[in-house]
Amino acid sequence: MDDIRRKTPMPERDPALRVTGFEEVALGYDADLAAREAARCLDCRHRPCVAGCPVGIDIPGFIRQIKNGDPGGAYVTLKQSNALPAVCGRVCPQENQCEKVCVRAINGESVGIGRLERYAADWHRTHEEDRPEVTASNGHRVAVVGSGPAGLTCADELAGLGYAVTVFEALHRTGGVLTYGIPPFRLPKDIVEYEVETLRKKGVTIRTNFVVGRTETLEQLMEDGFEAIFIGAGAGLPTFLNIPGENLNGVYTANEFLTRINLMKAYRGDSATPLCDSTSIVVVGGGNVALDAARCARRICKGDVTIVYRRSEAEMPARREEVHHAMEEGIRMRFLTNPVAFASDAAGRVSGVDCVEMELGEPDATGRRLPIEKPGTQFLVDSDTAFVAIGTSPNPLLRRASPSLEASERGSLKIDAETGMTTMPGVFAGGDIVSGDATVILAMGAGKRAAAGIDAYIQNKK
Ligand SMILES: Cc1cc2nc3c(=O)[nH]c(=O)nc-3n(C[C@H](O)[C@H](O)[C@H](O)COP(=O)(O)OP(=O)(O)OC[C@H]3O[C@@H](n4cnc5c(N)ncnc54)[C@H](O)[C@@H]3O)c2cc1C
Repeated sequence: MDDIRRKTPMPERDPALRVTGFEEVALGYDADLAAREAARCLDCRHRPCVAGCPVGIDIPGFIRQIKNGDPGGAYVTLKQSNALPAVCGRVCPQENQCEKVCVRAINGESVGIGRLERYAADWHRTHEEDRPEVTASNGHRVAVVGSGPAGLTCADELAGLGYAVTVFEALHRTGGVLTYGIPPFRLPKDIVEYEVETLRKKGVTIRTNFVVGRTETLEQLMEDGFEAIFIGAGAGLPTFLNIPGENLNGVYTANEFLTRINLMKAYRGDSATPLCDSTSIVVVGGGNVALDAARCARRICKGDVTIVYRRSEAEMPARREEVHHAMEEGIRMRFLTNPVAFASDAAGRVSGVDCVEMELGEPDATGRRLPIEKPGTQFLVDSDTAFVAIGTSPNPLLRRASPSLEASERGSLKIDAETGMTTMPGVFAGGDIVSGDATVILAMGAGKRAAAGIDAYIQNKK
């Protein structure tokens, strides 16, 4: 493939070196690489990439500014539609969104839209003083539950309209999954902190260690004078395999493992949380969570790491780039393999994962081909530690405290698709708590839509 049909490669840390630490793997473009990649954009009149972006970023516009040597202007354009460009430039599944419909992809590789977004956001952070515009107060108060991408985006939008916004966060750190889920080698934590600080500068108040539904209920927040509430509390409750042996010592959810890494610094020598001294680790699942757990295990554990996934590589929901990075880092992948039980040693610790071979049948409702068990194919994969990463659902705490919030069988809150309002008047919701575990940008899009719904609700009440 000639040069113009290929994405400008982004420098990365060497696989052999990067597995010894938690420094960021992808190093980003410099000005020359960014200019070269920006020059590949055809600036198409019908702009399919903009329609492919869940928050409708003016993609040709910001790329044109980079082309013209104005990364600061590109950042301003990005911020008009996206509260978290440095985050999205790093973790968005661009290959399924803006880059999927890029005209360049018809005959070669798409423009590296995510890489350019990251370049502009990083350039701003390292070259410019952060002075976000502060909008004059409109005299109305709104509460936001949760400081993940949905909550932060909703707060940002509302602050921009003049609302006095308070974000209530259950944990001691802000950022949601961006902080306690995604590991620092994919998303350094100072980047999330910077974005939260920008929000503070816009006048948003953030209260940590405040569990809505326990510290105070939604009804009490309303009594305190908040005229509307946005719930962006995510989907933090792990799903289990429900197979024999799942409660053995040494079997964890990947979410717990990642939280220990991210919030309790389990990867540092001076950490109080125990490091993993396993010799054979199995991770069950094929999404970003499974990949992140496997790559963390590779960095802190002594032994081999194997991912067991019941479909084939093509169906893996994880970002392509992360699958590639995991393979480069020596993580083994066993595709078309499904665990049926965890085996135990005499001390009651996991000693292996009983698996069966699978084959793919017809596509299911989501369009992915259904995995079907091949009879008589059971085999054991040795393992003294296993992490389960097969999905999450919303925590029922808020619904139990406020029963007028209606939810689906899986616990996802029901909302009006247009306004984002739940079944409780004045209470809106969006992100993983509505959609189930999804993506950062979809959570942000939902936060943005709900902010418009909240604004219309409060203005119509006047
Ligand atoms: C390990 C991992 C890797 C991922 N990788 C990617 C990726 O590469 N790309 C991508 O696009 N997506 C990825 N995702 C998915 C993405 O992070 C989520 O879809 C997104 O964070 C959802 O945003 P949210 O704001 O709805 O919820 P969250 O990010 O979960 O934030 C919810 C916040 O609400 C707080 N909260 C919960 N209950 C309460 C309460 N009662 N009171 C107060 N606060 C509360 C939580 O503590 C949390 O801070 C990943 C997810 C995980 C777990």
